[in-house]
Amino acid sequence: MARIVMKFGGTSVANLERIYNVARHVKREVDAGHEVAVVVSAMSGKTNELVDWVQNMPKVAGADSPFYDAREYDAVVASGEQVTSGLLAIALQSMGVNARSWQGWQIPIKTDNAHGAARIQEIDGAEIIRRMGEGQVAVVAGFQGIGPDNRIATLGRGGSDTSAVAIAAGVKADRCDIYTDVDGVYTTDPRIEPKARRLKKIAFEEMLEMASLGAKVLQVRSVELAMVHKVRTFVRSSFEDPDAPGMGDLLNPPGTLICDEEEIVEQEVVTGIAYAKDEAQISLRRLADRPGVSAAIFGPLAEAHINVDMIVQNISEDGSKTDMTFTVPSGDVDKALSVLGSNKEKIGFDVVQSEKGLVKVSVIGIGMRSHAGVAATAFKALAEKGINIKAITTSEIKISILIDGPYAELAVRTLHSCYGLDKN
Ligand code: ADP
Ligand code: ASP
Ligand code: MG
Repeated sequence: MARIVMKFGGTSVANLERIYNVARHVKREVDAGHEVAVVVSAMSGKTNELVDWVQNMPKVAGADSPFYDAREYDAVVASGEQVTSGLLAIALQSMGVNARSWQGWQIPIKTDNAHGAARIQEIDGAEIIRRMGEGQVAVVAGFQGIGPDNRIATLGRGGSDTSAVAIAAGVKADRCDIYTDVDGVYTTDPRIEPKARRLKKIAFEEMLEMASLGAKVLQVRSVELAMVHKVRTFVRSSFEDPDAPGMGDLLNPPGTLICDEEEIVEQEVVTGIAYAKDEAQISLRRLADRPGVSAAIFGPLAEAHINVDMIVQNISEDGSKTDMTFTVPSGDVDKALSVLGSNKEKIGFDVVQSEKGLVKVSVIGIGMRSHAGVAATAFKALAEKGINIKAITTSEIKISILIDGPYAELAVRTLHSCYGLDKN
């Protein structure tokens, strides 16, 4: 007997038939004698609709900024998961499986106060464990918990993955299965590159980079938690026949295992390619080249909670003036420009330029630590396709390259093939 947490994403619970199918997956594990807790997302598209409602409430004439109370945002957007948790419990009960739904506050899943992007601080797994021992399946609404203000708090988009891994850690599960619309983690997004290959295993560090650099198959925070708490996490498909051979395999279920680097026998130099759309570039021209100028720029941006990513400073030609270029999410450009504008005197630049709609493509692999020439291969391959590089950043296990938006798919496919990822 094992203790398993199963998470089902939005497409997996998109309608009643699919929820019924999810119930069959759950029943399979229950029938095998395992203790099971399930985490569900909202039906696909539902969270977007709820966010849209919050953002488009008509405003009093003359009011400009889209202002709303983040606690009420959470009250609204958390409702999607409430619906699916109840529906799945009903489907399970109809199959004779003892099940009940749980909202985040009922467990409770305690979070911090950062409404809209809250972090889980503590989960009391005792009651869930007790009931699992009695054969009851807990169907938990993902994406939500309760803040210190006693209000519902949501965990940021894609947060049900994090709910699942946190619950798995909280109840000391043997395994956490993230069921989604693909049958594992691929060398790149299979929607962009049909030749992408499914990985049998991927190291935590690599998955963390893939997720942070745009692969939305897992929320970044869920990978961090899995790594810290050593949760054995699999990504697998909910669309396969729940009773197909091997689906209930305890040690080697079909899918991708996220694991320690040491567990991977044949480590490739490059493991995957990720991409993030909607990046924007801001350039400050003819800045004074003096100590403190970076602090004068990035201090106020940080205070305004603007996430600055790549930073490139040019060498100054005459020793007195330089240019500084950096990237921010496209949605933050207007805010960044206004912050820079109001600090113009203090920073001391001549003009500011910005460009939206850029894309960051990234090459990821632990093997890069011990191999030279990985970046040069990428630059050469992109040059051969006539793709212009606007900025580059690197770390020990990744290279990120900023390019024009329309080249995104070509760049992903080019990088994917130049490292031989489309070959078996
Ligand atoms: P869910 O609703 O189940 O949480 P998501 O849409 O959040 O599912 O994540 C699954 C999607 O992630 C896939 O449909 C796929 O298009 C995308 N994806 C991006 N990069 C990868 C990758 N490297 N491997 C697998 N899927 C990826
Ligand atoms: N429903 C939430 C979202 O769409 C959480 C999730 O699905 O993981 O972001
Ligand atoms: Mg998701």
